[in-house]
Amino acid sequence: MRAVTFQAPGEVRVEDVPDPELTSADEAIVRVEASGVCGSDLHIFHGRVAMEEGFVLGHEYVGTVVATGAEVRTVADGDRVLGAYCTACGECFFCRRGDFHKCDHGRVFGHGRTLGALAGAQAELLAVPNADLTLRRVPEGMSDDVALFAGDVMGTGYHAVVETGVGEGSTVAVLGLGPVGLCAVQAAIAVGAESVVAVDTVDERLELARALGARPVHLTDQDPRAAAKEVSDGRGVDATIDAVGHPDALALACRLTRKAGTVSATGVYAERIEVHMGIIWIKALTLKTGHANVIKHLDPVLERLSSGALDPTPLVTHHMSLDQAPEAYDVYDRREALKIVLRP
Ligand SMILES: [Zn+2]
Ligand SMILES: [Zn+2]
Repeated sequence: MRAVTFQAPGEVRVEDVPDPELTSADEAIVRVEASGVCGSDLHIFHGRVAMEEGFVLGHEYVGTVVATGAEVRTVADGDRVLGAYCTACGECFFCRRGDFHKCDHGRVFGHGRTLGALAGAQAELLAVPNADLTLRRVPEGMSDDVALFAGDVMGTGYHAVVETGVGEGSTVAVLGLGPVGLCAVQAAIAVGAESVVAVDTVDERLELARALGARPVHLTDQDPRAAAKEVSDGRGVDATIDAVGHPDALALACRLTRKAGTVSATGVYAERIEVHMGIIWIKALTLKTGHANVIKHLDPVLERLSSGALDPTPLVTHHMSLDQAPEAYDVYDRREALKIVLRP
């Protein structure tokens, strides 16, 4: 089969690699019909995540089941499915608590040996371990573009929102309007947030946030703190989602949030940074961090995507063929795209 492989920092290639085969009774093989290029693929592309040469990339996918192991119950050959970006065992201490994102045996598609050596989805075929937990049937009438958001980006935006306790009447700030930030904006509005202050520096992204129902605020030309106060009777917002992953964003998040409010560090942090613990402590802020528990949120997110309460369609800026993957990575690297969907 053809697949997109990592070669070296800054270089991916479309190559012929062996077809995956069923290796355990809980697995399914999916013929991929659409896969996404994501910000985390870019971390690998930049060489920030260790990756073996020739490893197949990608972790967002929609396709059709073409083979199942004997123990697979919830999907069958011929089913159109989408899946989470990662797998979980369903049995360890953390899975039993529902913390599938922290599974002791969790593996991430398309991230090389360090994250479980699970070949990626930017390929014609994909082997999916623990298919009952990892996969869901695509609801009737849902497009590939919409469905593939459930397994990663929308699941992450939704996680950020529900984990910070955002609900009916909440005031929220979202920092960084990349795909996850824009999905968080949508999710906040979908669960009933009264005001969403959406902060970025890119005009097109601010306009998109406005179209979704948020109040766009330019990070430097405007005053995010004033905006957060205006929507909250001067208190600061109930919750802020840092969808950037930069110390300045986290510092701003702590300042925009009201006393006893919640900050979600949803953007990726991998290094030591300084935070103003005095502000966090005096304001009695709660800080939420880490990967999103996308497996846990698959069903509620699919329900909301089905009803149209969540609609990531405006975030899909490019459709390209799998063979154009090297160009797709370059386009994404130049920040010219929000979501690129590849079709084999
Ligand atoms: Zn992704
Ligand atoms: Zn587990």
